Amino acid sequence: MNKFSWYEATSIEDALQQVNKTVSEELYQSTNNAAVFKSGGIDVFDWVKEGLINPQKIINIRNIPGLDVISYDAKDGLRIGSNVTLAEMASNSDIKNHYLALHQAINHAATPQLRNMSTLGGNIAQRNRCWYFRSADHQCFRKSGDRCFARHSETGENENHAIIDNGSCVSLHASSISTALMAFNASVVIVNSKGEKKKVLMDDFFVSAGQDIAMETILQAKEIITEIVLPAPSKNTKSYYIKQVARESYDWSLGDVAVVIETSGDTCKSASIVLGAAAPVPYRSVQAQQAMEKKSINNTNAMAAAEAAMSVARPLSKNGYKVPLFKSIISEAILKIT
Ligand SMILES: Cc1cc2nc3c(=O)[nH]c(=O)nc-3n(C[C@H](O)[C@H](O)[C@H](O)COP(=O)(O)OP(=O)(O)OC[C@H]3O[C@@H](n4cnc5c(N)ncnc54)[C@H](O)[C@@H]3O)c2cc1C
Repeated sequence: MNKFSWYEATSIEDALQQVNKTVSEELYQSTNNAAVFKSGGIDVFDWVKEGLINPQKIINIRNIPGLDVISYDAKDGLRIGSNVTLAEMASNSDIKNHYLALHQAINHAATPQLRNMSTLGGNIAQRNRCWYFRSADHQCFRKSGDRCFARHSETGENENHAIIDNGSCVSLHASSISTALMAFNASVVIVNSKGEKKKVLMDDFFVSAGQDIAMETILQAKEIITEIVLPAPSKNTKSYYIKQVARESYDWSLGDVAVVIETSGDTCKSASIVLGAAAPVPYRSVQAQQAMEKKSINNTNAMAAAEAAMSVARPLSKNGYKVPLFKSIISEAILKIT
């Protein structure tokens, strides 16, 4: 581990000024960050310990006042500060009562100990968990290398990897919470060092590997996430989340799905269906959404939506099992809506 200095930021402006002093124009996600923001620190310190980044300075944004608030209003919806922990979200009754799929996603993420430390900002900005990407010995495409080790049909250990949009990189975004956030049409509020604020839909926050292999989100070095905002659901909106893992105790997702449906009796008026651990970023299944819209919520239509979602799947040599897995959890989550 390299030596680094530690800076305790007291405000957003203070944190951004510090990074301004240290970083010229390097990208936030460069592996040689001059400075890095740390919130819960779980992902940041994994990177430092594994020698994947060598920051000169770690800027602790965890104690900045005002970023740890959850508020709900029936008209304006839900606002969650970027430093709110997953544990605080798990016990919030507004999230449980109005955004069930998000509540379920949080309770299935990581372990109680990790949820006590992890913040929402850090969760959506964490890097992927592909074991080749996380290994200092493997220079893959994402680290300016010349190959994807996972893709190789014989030697690639790709059983957990992407089955959709996997043309350039086959990693999976690690945030299963983003699956539910995106299904609720959440937006991310970001501030830059000039004090300018922007609000970006989660759909536009993530960057597909095909768009830019070096990036997983649009976040730049001199930007801080301040909050995540979810619109208020209508009174007929129902939701459900399912995460399939390999073992009974905590685990990373093999496949997860969040379904948010506006109902009219037993009919689906509109559907928002997002898959996690299917593609390098959380994946909105327009195919499944279209298959459900204006249809009755029943077994036949749920199965048709699951088939439609998987029509774009292109499994790798060792992860073909994910196709039936997704079909099963997508149809089950839709049927739970009734
Ligand atoms: C064993 C294990 C299992 C896990 N399982 C799951 C799971 O099932 N589902 C899931 O969703 N997650 C899971 N996680 C992720 C975990 O819950 C954390 O959310 C995640 O590791 C990072 O959160 P953090 O607050 O510690 O972020 P940090 O490590 O502090 O930061 C992560 C990244 O975000 C940046 N960052 C942090 N806050 C901000 C901000 N406000 N503005 C701009 N940039 C910011 C940092 O610079 C860094 O690059 C797991 C982690 C582990 C170790």
